[in-house]
Amino acid sequence: MEKHKTIVFGIDGGTWISLKPLAEKGLLPAFKKILDKGSHGTLMSSIPCRSSTAIISFYTGKNPAKWGSLDFSCFDCDVTRYDKIRINNPAIWEILGNYGLKSAILNLPTTHPPTPVEGVMLSGFSVSEKDEYTYPKEFKERVRGFHLGRETFLKLISGEKTMEGEKELFNFFLESAKQKYQIIRNVIKDAAFDFVLFWVDESDAIQHDFWGEEEYLSRFFKEIDKNLNDVMENNPDANIIIMSDHGFDAVPIYEFYPKSWLKKEGYLKLKGNIIQQWIVQAINNFLIKIPGAYRYRYLGFLYYLLDSIKSIINKKNKKEVNQPFKIDRSWRLKKHSSESKAMGVDWSKTVASNHDFWGIKIFKENLKRDYEEVRSEIMKKMRELKDKNGEKIIKYVWKREEIFSGEGVEKFPDIAYLPNSKFLPTGFLPFSLTRKRSITRVAKVARGGHMIIREGIFLAFGPNIKNAGDIGELNVLDLTPTILSMFNVSIPEDMDGKVIKEIII
Ligand SMILES: [Zn+2]
Repeated sequence: MEKHKTIVFGIDGGTWISLKPLAEKGLLPAFKKILDKGSHGTLMSSIPCRSSTAIISFYTGKNPAKWGSLDFSCFDCDVTRYDKIRINNPAIWEILGNYGLKSAILNLPTTHPPTPVEGVMLSGFSVSEKDEYTYPKEFKERVRGFHLGRETFLKLISGEKTMEGEKELFNFFLESAKQKYQIIRNVIKDAAFDFVLFWVDESDAIQHDFWGEEEYLSRFFKEIDKNLNDVMENNPDANIIIMSDHGFDAVPIYEFYPKSWLKKEGYLKLKGNIIQQWIVQAINNFLIKIPGAYRYRYLGFLYYLLDSIKSIINKKNKKEVNQPFKIDRSWRLKKHSSESKAMGVDWSKTVASNHDFWGIKIFKENLKRDYEEVRSEIMKKMRELKDKNGEKIIKYVWKREEIFSGEGVEKFPDIAYLPNSKFLPTGFLPFSLTRKRSITRVAKVARGGHMIIREGIFLAFGPNIKNAGDIGELNVLDLTPTILSMFNVSIPEDMDGKVIKEIII
């Protein structure tokens, strides 16, 4: 195969729900051109559908159980050191580098701190201008100001929740996308690079905050389309691949409480007598009525109060922590530790509990029956589970080994699942199994979300790409093997993805 420069244009949270209608209306000519003349499909995200999990799955070509991630972090390392993952799981640019191919990795989440690369790296996500964010160091001179917006962003999101503030926030994202692209457009077109990966992150924030606001979304994606068009004009001989890390949709209308369901089915047991059990559920019932993140503050305060009372009673400062998982140092698990702790659960008798919003953990030590029998039984019940309106709650259910493989798989929840997009699982334990959420439509409150939306976008166009039209479903894991094969580079055996042969000339 003749080798051509390949440019990956990542759109965080890119979804056909937003892009297809705009492209069909003729508002996104660059996208439309690729839809008509190249290949496209639905790019399935990793489980969980989080940016970091999906992005690392993409650039290593390996499922999370191989590089050790459960959610945002790896098992044994600090969440901020994603580079450690790459010691045993080289990223696509590292593999290409071994063959003397040069890369420019631009604004990709999980690449801070920057690491040596055959080429250049500009780290993305939560990076400030004053940080070291380039490899080599001198490269910063060429991209100075790229992360200048970070301070403004932090100021904007801490401000009052007003409509004025909302407009200001939108304009900030739009300007930020414009400016970042202007700063790196010459790097993208630099003939020195064989492989360019540029990540647009504002699309995630925009869809969280402005989902359902067509006017805003179309203004934003028109800007992205303009940049894409510029990339295509500047690089007429390059293969262009557009990808997302996960999909997006309106935030779910209902909450689903897997713990309450597991309790009802007899897999999860509560501590204490019937009155104590009632109190625990009543507290949870109170908590779920508090919208959004505030409920975690109440819960945090409640734990603080309980711990304090306990330590006064016991006259010692021993914290009793009931949790199914060892909590690592990641901020994310810390933030959610209150969920996995789940007050009142009797862990010595509980057979199954939820892990985060996508897994069910079975506690083998408490099983009195065959593990496989219990697991299949829970999975069957999950598939049949309906809310009181007769709506199916769960969309996909897998045995963990059906979607994960490798060293870490034993640490993963025994069952993985994704609910129907109307239901958001949370770790609370109220009396009911589901409840309608109170979604406040005020400024700066998330209206769109992606935690349970796997369906993202894939588009490809260029000298090595066929005009295959819609090729259906593919997986984030497939992109790295596909790109490697376009460079005639052999694909490491332990990669999980497959080459998307139907698009390659
Ligand atoms: Zn994302």
